[in-house]
Amino acid sequence: MGAVVKIVKCPKCKTEILIDQNELELAASKAKRGAGLYSLAFDHEDHVVIIYIDETGNIRGVEASPLLRSEVPLFVKIDIVPIPKPREKMPSLKRLSREELAVLCHCDGSTSLREISEALGIPYGRVKAIVETLYGAGYISKLKEVVLE
Ligand SMILES: [Zn+2]
Repeated sequence: MGAVVKIVKCPKCKTEILIDQNELELAASKAKRGAGLYSLAFDHEDHVVIIYIDETGNIRGVEASPLLRSEVPLFVKIDIVPIPKPREKMPSLKRLSREELAVLCHCDGSTSLREISEALGIPYGRVKAIVETLYGAGYISKLKEVVLE
């Protein structure tokens, strides 16, 4: 654990969330490789707090959404890793809903749909539908299939 550098208050239950240096740097570097924003999710029992961090490590948004703990499919042997387009080739991020943005923020070319589903507390099927929408709308260049161990 590095030093705590950011304290964010949960908009729903007002609990303070501490973000340390390592976490912030990792999020900023992922934002740089991805859409320019990265979302960290924190489990708060019946809700999830999503904190958006930009490539310089600044907090760009905080939201709480009801937890939709999922049905992770048990028999999925093949998962999908969405490969984002380079940021300069993406359409404007302003057109996206918060949920689409949260999912896009996790598309870094190595994170699978299952991992995105777990990180955000959004059911797998919904993440898949969102990623397909993002693909159709030109935010994602490729959907790479990976075989699970
Ligand atoms: Zn909370």
